[in-house]
Amino acid sequence: MKHYQKIESSLIHGGIYGDERTGAVNIPIYQTSTYQQDGLGKMRGYEYSRTGNPTRESLESLIAELEKGEAGFAFASGMAAITAVLTLLKTGDRVVISSNVYGGTFRVLDKIFQSFGINYTIADTSNLEELSHALTADVKMLLIESPANPLLTVTDIEAVSFLTREKNILLVVDNTFMTPYLQRPLELGADIVLHSATKYLGGHSDLIAGLVIVKTQKLAEKLHFIQNATGGILQPFDSFLLIRSIKSLGVRMQRHVENAEIIADWLNKNEAVASVYYPGLPTAQGYEINRKQAKNAGAMISFELTAEYDIKKFFEKLKLVALAESLGGVESLVCHPSSMTHASIPKEIRERVGITENLIRLSVGIEHIDDLIHDLHSAIEGSKK
Ligand SMILES: *Cc1c(COP(=O)(O)O)cnc(C)c1O
Repeated sequence: MKHYQKIESSLIHGGIYGDERTGAVNIPIYQTSTYQQDGLGKMRGYEYSRTGNPTRESLESLIAELEKGEAGFAFASGMAAITAVLTLLKTGDRVVISSNVYGGTFRVLDKIFQSFGINYTIADTSNLEELSHALTADVKMLLIESPANPLLTVTDIEAVSFLTREKNILLVVDNTFMTPYLQRPLELGADIVLHSATKYLGGHSDLIAGLVIVKTQKLAEKLHFIQNATGGILQPFDSFLLIRSIKSLGVRMQRHVENAEIIADWLNKNEAVASVYYPGLPTAQGYEINRKQAKNAGAMISFELTAEYDIKKFFEKLKLVALAESLGGVESLVCHPSSMTHASIPKEIRERVGITENLIRLSVGIEHIDDLIHDLHSAIEGSKK
């Protein structure tokens, strides 16, 4: 029996908590590759750390509890997690992806899985009509992000799950931008959730990790087989760091979102700004749907400056907010999607989906709001042509 009900408590006490043998409140880092057996076929639950490791298992049980899934799996990166999920597919199968998925997701499908005869279709998954046309008979998986990267496009997860269930298609949601603190796709009808835990779950820009959470026992068996067979596991020390980070996810997300809401509003009222993409603005695409399926709109904002401003200069003038790939850390980061995170997507596709040369993506950190606004204001002023 659990002695708590709320996610704020699960973040700290969830999964396999602490160390039973000593009472240590934190799980030890079991830095071992193998385990002594008491006799032939007599193991104490572990045989080899690719197959199972207590520190990794503690993390895996924690994320399964947070996402309300049957089981969790920890991988060496978000891409290793996505790759493991895609290996559920077979030659001749097709996967449909949201039109602005993470660039690496597109790349692995286009450059690797396609050469094994696994095809993909790009669709605007926020448009149910367009999506249902894309769900042809060979489609076995739909992989979406909501809000999606970098235009923060919202897809109605529950509505989409009705379509996929009817056609026996696996619905996979990359929940990196939201975390289980803000949105739990399995409760909305998804079959698999995945994370680049490098981002908000890790939260300190100091580790690379990926997580997969599945809804059913059958998928859990398959994923465990894939994880062990392909071997892209997360190491014990990184598993420990991630457990440590997840304990503060609730308070971090609260501050991230508080800052993001103020900044989105400030950008929206700023004459120098041509457009703002943030699902927390009542005028944004998907505002109502996001409110229905998530606690709030998270802390990622994209925007464009008007033609009177030079965006190259804008990036150079920022002093506090760092120009860098990645997101979700305590420090605010800014990036230029068309040349950075989404550079692996061909220019024609980028332009078609709205990832323009002028688009700026901001990952709002947990610094003091006054310092963030001051830095953004000075950089905008300093970049006037
Ligand atoms: C970063 C990211 C990934 C890839 O994860 P890595 O940990 O960098 O391998 C996948 N999806 C989204 C939404 C991301 O932001």
